[in-house]
Amino acid sequence: MDISKPYFNPEIETMERGELDALIEERVRYTVKYAAENSLFYRKWFEKHGIKPGDIKAHEDLQELPVISGKTIRENQPPEMKDFMFKSVGWEDVFTIHETSGTSGTPKSFFLTWEDWERYAEKYARIFRSQGFGPGDRVVICASYGMNVGANTMTLAARQLGMSIIPEGKCTFPLRIIEAYKPTGIVGSVFKLLNLAKRMKAEGLVPEESGINKLVVGGESFADESRNYLSEIWGCPVYNTYGSTEGTMCGECSEITGLHVPEDVVHLDVYDPHLKNFVPDGDCGRIVLSTLLPVGAKAGNLLLNYDTDDTTVVLTRKTCSCGRTHMKIMTPQREAETFWIEGTPFNRVDVERGVFQSGNMDYLTGEYEAFLYGGEDEGETILRVSMECENPDTCDRDLIKENFIRSFLKYKHPLSRAYEDDTFKILFNFTGPRGLELYKIKGRPKRLVDRR
Ligand SMILES: [Zn+2]
Repeated sequence: MDISKPYFNPEIETMERGELDALIEERVRYTVKYAAENSLFYRKWFEKHGIKPGDIKAHEDLQELPVISGKTIRENQPPEMKDFMFKSVGWEDVFTIHETSGTSGTPKSFFLTWEDWERYAEKYARIFRSQGFGPGDRVVICASYGMNVGANTMTLAARQLGMSIIPEGKCTFPLRIIEAYKPTGIVGSVFKLLNLAKRMKAEGLVPEESGINKLVVGGESFADESRNYLSEIWGCPVYNTYGSTEGTMCGECSEITGLHVPEDVVHLDVYDPHLKNFVPDGDCGRIVLSTLLPVGAKAGNLLLNYDTDDTTVVLTRKTCSCGRTHMKIMTPQREAETFWIEGTPFNRVDVERGVFQSGNMDYLTGEYEAFLYGGEDEGETILRVSMECENPDTCDRDLIKENFIRSFLKYKHPLSRAYEDDTFKILFNFTGPRGLELYKIKGRPKRLVDRR
């Protein structure tokens, strides 16, 4: 790597659009051919539907192939089937085996070859570089080193950039790590990094003076308001990433105007809710992923048209001010965290935005949870929002309520009318430190729960 350049792989990252599109088409053709030859699932599927892999010539032709989901993967592996139908190399080429968190039954199995690891690591190396990381940086990784690939991939990526990694795995690491090794960056989640700052302040350490000059977050979507607050507390930029064991790995560059998709190795389409057609750039839809393999490469697992259950918007395919030509998407949101009231969708992130309004944070810790209930009258819906206060006695509740309601109902006209008609009610609950229900639950907390 040439450290005078802001790119990890300049040729690919700044490839002119026409050339990049041609490279994508070439890789679509090779990947489909590889799937037909090496994946039991795709071989059978092509046979059954009379599709000749050679008919898939351009990325639009991917619409001819089935959209698969996590469920499809689970139904095509043990115990449902004798074989792992999505595995696409022999055991002698499988380097590591992974499972994605099984929130709904059996975890999905993933098989990675060493080549897959190298490609995954390059994706993160490009992201880190685009955020200004390079030789001499020392980064604490607070993502888990378990069956997911994220933390290990970042660690491998660091090796290629001359960065040092402190592989803590959790944000609850002892504070002497910060004092002793003077890390320059931390990878974690918005809430865990807020908690870490709180812990430091309690010990008399000032996050802004700690030497940390970049934070990288990911793992869940967040409101811009909470990111801005985190950035203010730490006095440094906060960059978002979006990754998964399935192989996404998109990241914000130093411009912070959307996440670059590594288009040469991940093909990302945005579909309408019925998964029939692509939506135009600028419209919100479901993220459907396909792996793209360089001609001649092997992959342990191959996914074509994989429905991620996340939604996003393609912001632009034009060259970014950072010089990268790869397209940018909006921070993806989880479909499972989107709810409908009065024909209006809203997401957990909309609740978070209401909590993190400026002014509110003089009183709140940022921790929150919300519940949806059916009201006593037919067709009535209640949103109950609980927020944790530094001190419930001095908390300006009226100000917080007003800020929350104004932000939450903005751009949601039908919901706003329902609120005026009293068919949609928002109730507030203020708790002291550690008074929220989510503190009693193990694992990743659900911050918006539908109890209707
Ligand atoms: Zn950029």
